[in-house]
Amino acid sequence: MKKIIAIALLFITFFYPMNNVLAEDNIESESEKKVVYLTFDDGPSKNTPAVLEVLKKHNIKATFFVVGEQFQYFQNELKELLESGNPVHIHCYRHSNWIYGSQDNYRSDYEKCKETLKSYGWQETKFVRFPGGSSNKYRKTAAFRDIRQYIVGHGLYYVDWNVSAEDAIHSMLSPNEILCNVKKYNKDSNTAVVLMHDGGMNKTAAAGLEKVIEYFKSEGYEFKCMDDDISEEEIKLLMGKSVVNKFNKEKTTANDLP
Ligand SMILES: [Zn+2]
Repeated sequence: MKKIIAIALLFITFFYPMNNVLAEDNIESESEKKVVYLTFDDGPSKNTPAVLEVLKKHNIKATFFVVGEQFQYFQNELKELLESGNPVHIHCYRHSNWIYGSQDNYRSDYEKCKETLKSYGWQETKFVRFPGGSSNKYRKTAAFRDIRQYIVGHGLYYVDWNVSAEDAIHSMLSPNEILCNVKKYNKDSNTAVVLMHDGGMNKTAAAGLEKVIEYFKSEGYEFKCMDDDISEEEIKLLMGKSVVNKFNKEKTTANDLP
């Protein structure tokens, strides 16, 4: 019996510190991986400045995908957004399903948004978000396959999300409802790409954002944004999670363009 206890003690002494170190290592690497990307679609609008104010207060950058036809009505808001240091990317010029009719339709809309943004001093970026995301109802059409090819063929990345505030489907959500939706969809414990909106209807965007930030802070997430300093490793990780280039994971060159 004594012998068994002695062996058991030896066993524990030998393995315990090692297991403990490994456990601590795991905790550390797990916590390093907790990252959230807050993304906003459909601005600029009169609701954009309040969103920027909340981000500034928390010293956090979010990623914005803007709609070109709104620039003429919200020039000051656009300028404020561009000067804020938050990355700004193309969503579309006209938020209309017409763009999914053919690659030419998409391309002309995309170019128009690009040129208009450039007239405000914006410089081209690597990211874009399709209206409705890449899994929209046109995803299986030949035209949309060509459109995706156009994007990846030009070295760009189309960005989706894995957490939705559902604030476009129901634009009058209370800040608490926005938070509830974000919590409900936040299933991947390490990487959250959150879709929110700062369009004209999203009056509760800033108040909702405040709650969303508090939530991710309390859960120990690091806040990141999608800008051109993003590493290849980060892109790979986001591709693996199907939030970047979901249907085009293989690298495509301009030669592969249809
Ligand atoms: Zn949109």
